[in-house]
Order: sequence, then C-alpha cells, then structure tokens
Amino acid sequence: MDGKTLEYKGEAALKELEQLTMKTSEIQRNILKEILTRNAATEYLNKYMNGSVDVKKYKKMVPVITYEGIHPYIQRIANGESSSIISGQSITELLISSGTSSGEPRLMPSIAEDLDRRTYLYNLIMPIMNRYIPGLDKGKAMHLLFVKREMPTPSGLAARPVLTSYYKSKRFRCRAADSFNDLTSPNEAILCTDVHQSMYCQLLAGLIHRHHVLRVGAVFASALLRSIHFLERHWADFVIDIRLGRPGSIVSDPACRAAMCKLLTGPNPALADEVQQICNGSDSDEKGGRSWRGVLRRLWPEARCIEAVLTGSMAQYVPALEFYGGGIPLVCTMYASSECYFGVNLCPLSDPAEVTYTLLPNMAYFEFLPLQRWLGQSSGCRDDEDVVDGENLVDLADVKPGLYYELVITTFSGLHRYRVGDVLQVVGFHNQAPQFKFICRRNVVLSIDSDKTNEEDLYKSITAAKRLLEARDLLLVEYTSYADTLMIPGHYVLFWEIVCTANVMNTVISFDTELLQACCSVVEDSLGYVYRRCRTHDNSVGPLEIRVVEIGTFEALMDLFIGQGGSINQYKTPRCIESSDALQLLNSRVMASFFSPHEPIWNP
Ligand code: AMP
Repeated sequence: MDGKTLEYKGEAALKELEQLTMKTSEIQRNILKEILTRNAATEYLNKYMNGSVDVKKYKKMVPVITYEGIHPYIQRIANGESSSIISGQSITELLISSGTSSGEPRLMPSIAEDLDRRTYLYNLIMPIMNRYIPGLDKGKAMHLLFVKREMPTPSGLAARPVLTSYYKSKRFRCRAADSFNDLTSPNEAILCTDVHQSMYCQLLAGLIHRHHVLRVGAVFASALLRSIHFLERHWADFVIDIRLGRPGSIVSDPACRAAMCKLLTGPNPALADEVQQICNGSDSDEKGGRSWRGVLRRLWPEARCIEAVLTGSMAQYVPALEFYGGGIPLVCTMYASSECYFGVNLCPLSDPAEVTYTLLPNMAYFEFLPLQRWLGQSSGCRDDEDVVDGENLVDLADVKPGLYYELVITTFSGLHRYRVGDVLQVVGFHNQAPQFKFICRRNVVLSIDSDKTNEEDLYKSITAAKRLLEARDLLLVEYTSYADTLMIPGHYVLFWEIVCTANVMNTVISFDTELLQACCSVVEDSLGYVYRRCRTHDNSVGPLEIRVVEIGTFEALMDLFIGQGGSINQYKTPRCIESSDALQLLNSRVMASFFSPHEPIWNP
C-alpha cells in the first residue's frame, strides 16, 4: 500500500473503491503471492512450504488453524524471540483482541504498515457516507473514543487493543484538521486512560459544540449506550461546568484539564440552560412524559446520523439507540478486527438488520470455509464440526450468494489461514467483490445436554420474547445467559435488564409474573429443535428461567471485565457467562426470577 493510495479522499477514494472491487480476484492473487514471498523464510511457513511460494502448495500444505495453532509462536515473540518466526517484517506490537483463549486475552501480531491499511479503510468511510448524507463535512463529529493502558510483554513489545494503537499513532493524533476529521473530543480526552474522566470530558466537549455536531457515535453501540447512561447520571455536573466556565473536579488529569479549560472559554449560562432544560425532561417527549426518548436529537439538533457497529452481537442495542436517537438514522460503517480490517458498508443508510459489508481485497488474503449445515437450518445444533480440509476453502471472488462461510485470513503480519471465527452469509456482489451479512461468531453459547444454542439462536429467541415486553412499554436493554447445571436436569438462565420507556427511564418497575413467564415460553418455543426435544421428549433440560436484574447491572459487569484487562472500545457483553465473578455479580443483583410455566412446542 503506497503513500498515494493513503491520500485518496472524496471522489478519488470512491473511484479507487470501484477499481478495487472490479479486480477482486487479481488483487487477491497478487496479495497472496506478495505475502508468501515476504514470509517465505519464516519458521512457520517453512515448516509446510520448504521455502516454496507456490500458491497451490500453500492451499494443500498449510493448515487452517484457530488461535491455538499460532499461539505458541506469538508467545515466543512476546517472550523475546525474533518476529521472523512468523513474519517477514518486524512485528511492532501485539494487539489484544476481545477473544480469549483458556481465559487469557488473545494477542495478534501487527506490523508497522498495518497502520496504513487501517487508515486506508477509515479514509474510505467518509466519502461513502457523504454520498448518502451530503454535507457531513460541514460540521463536527462527536465520536466517543477510548484507549486502554498498554501491557508490557517480556520482550518489551507493547500489547494493546488495536484502537488504542490507532488513536495513539501520529496518524490519528496529528490528523489533518479537515472537515471529516473534525472531532469534538480533544485528543487529550481520547487518550486519557481513566475511562470516567475520558468519557466525562468527551461528553462535555460534545455538549459545548452541540450546535455544530453532525455525527454522533462510538465504535461499538455498547460504548455509545454506556456513554448515554453516563450522561443521564452526570448531566447536572455538565450544566454546572458550562454555567461556570470551568471543568469540575472530576477532571483531574492535567492534560485533560488543560484541554477542557481551552474549550470552556468562560461562563455560558445560555448553553447551560439549554442543556438543563433538555436533560431534566422539561423539554419532554410528545407523550408528555419526562422521558429521555429522543434525547440525542434534542441535545444535538443538527446530528444527521448515529454511527456505531450495530450488527452481530450489537444488534440488540438497536432499539435502545432508536429510543434515544429519536429518528436520527443509525449507521453502521465498517467491519474490522484486531487481526485485520475487513471491509465497509457501501449503503450506510440501510436498516441495521440489512447491513452488508464489502470486503476490501487489498486488506489481506481472504478464504472462506463453507458451512454446509448452516444452509436453511433452523435447529440450534449448528456447531457443525466441519472437517476442515484446506483444499475446500473458497476464494473471495468465488463465494456463492445465499451460502454461509467462516472467514479465514492470511495476513502480512504472520497469520496464515487463520479462522477468524465469524460466520458470514453472502448476499450479493458489488462488481466482483462479494457483500456479506455478518451472522454471528461461530460458537455455542449454551448447552446442557445434546442441545447446542449459539449466539444467533439466543438472540432470535430473545428478540421474539422482547416483543411482549415492548407492548407493555418495557425495553430489554441487556441480556446474558448461563447454563445452570447445579440442579439436575440443568436449565438455561437468562439475566435480563429491563427499563420502562413510558416515563422516566430508570424508574423501578414492578414485574408482572404472567408477562415474564410468557417471555420464558416464547424464548423456549423459539429455540432450536434439539433444545425443545431435550425439554419435552428427553426431559434432559429443565424449564428456562429469566432472572431480572437491577438497572445498571450490566454496566457493573462491563466494569468487572474492564477491570480484568478488557478494553471499553472493544467490549461486548458476553452472551454466556462462564466466570464465577461475573455470575456472582449478576446473581447479587437479581430482583425477581421467573420460570417457564410449561413445556415448549415440539413436534417429532
Ligand atoms: P476484536 O478482535 O476484539 O477487535 O473483535 C473483532 C470481532 O468483533 C470480529 O471478529 C467480529 O466478531 C466483531 N465485529 C467487528 N466488527 C463488526 C461488525 N461491523 N459487525 C459485527 N461484528 C463485528
């Protein structure tokens, strides 16, 4: 990737995108050749290829691996061995992914030029967005971005999340102050490792610039919602700061304080009154209740979109963001990971449920593991242990519409035929480049007997049950699950955090037993065939239980995981709880518990 490519902006970027997608196979062939040439001498490739750079041999001899296959090499590099054991170029940092392996965070190798690839993808997003929402370059973006403290490795290489790496890079810090890069948050606030101070400063900065904000967002929807909840708790402090023209004592980090003092140029009672009126609900919703419905639209009246990842496990946050957004379009722009940035959404205004990603053929070499048993399957038993024959993998330009695949990547930094773990479905093509719907991470989240429920099954069944709540002005804002096997037979436990949308959010709700029992039943009826068989015919699974937890429980859960080394940017609520600390936390906040009153529907 040369310097010229990085500078593509506006129309030039869109033209480049057309070129890329028209030559998908050619670019992919060249990428693989280049990776093989650069990495031919590495210990890892040599073991299978004996110095050869032949593509056919690569596909025949190099195994398709999961993290476990590369972990020993990464560990050796972390311990000080040369990065040449897996990569022809120096590994400059290890990126901490949100995945874990035996309870430990996964570390992904990264080389200096990966920063160019990430920048390249970011640079494509605004020209795409501007095509559908013109004028986005005429104002500011309130994007709430966070960094995490780095962890040293024995070799001295930094281990940090990919976004921390990006925000700390000169490329981000010294970005040209052009209109697409005009963030409300000062760099000092983004780079502050104290999450609360960072969030406080970034929200305060967003409020100060409220009439110039055209885009509101965060990387993942969960971080955006968390920030909105923070605003609900702290708006009165922001009003005081704006009124007095100085940041409150919570802002103790010297760099943040200096940056915020620069923004708060003096007392601004008019702005303080505006924010106060909106946040205390006197500027209430059309139903006349003191609700935060549409609060984002009222606080940032010029906002034309809310940007965040809203697909996959983030899809469950869409209703809450719609609630707060008050009609501002939700936009999901890109698909990326610590291992590699994958692609972009070419139709940013599409409904979050319909979002597709076009993989960019110059990011890495992509292969696809066909997932036969996903075809037309509606049973929960989808953890097909496909025999992974490396020769059966399909190239990017050869995937077939309608089919499901697991993404497998080969990167310059030393991942060879690495299974990302994401299940994607092909829904169409843009020129030669396929467009994918993100389905889920390929895993089983719950299993008691022979039933196997994955993240998507759980999501679908909970979505079905959620409708019962919504009809009563209740919103399920977060959920997780747990396979309780203490009692025989074991049963599924769902932890639900529910808020009332009819009046002030966060009010205590009294729960209707019949309603929650009906939710248990709908979840069970919507779960897979095998689950329902186990519940009815086999009696090997007990009645499903919903435990309703106090408001704020899932934030506490997030704090717990972040306290244990996770990153707020990349945090995704685990859809199944395994850690005893997390389980203890959830159980300590249960307000009421409900069981499924009867067996689910099952037809042999
Ligand atoms: P991490 O390595 O921690 O950055 O997590 C990367 C993973 O996050 C991906 O492999 C996906 O499972 C998930 N992810 C990233 N972007 C998206 C997206 N746009 N939609 C759904 N899931 C995503």
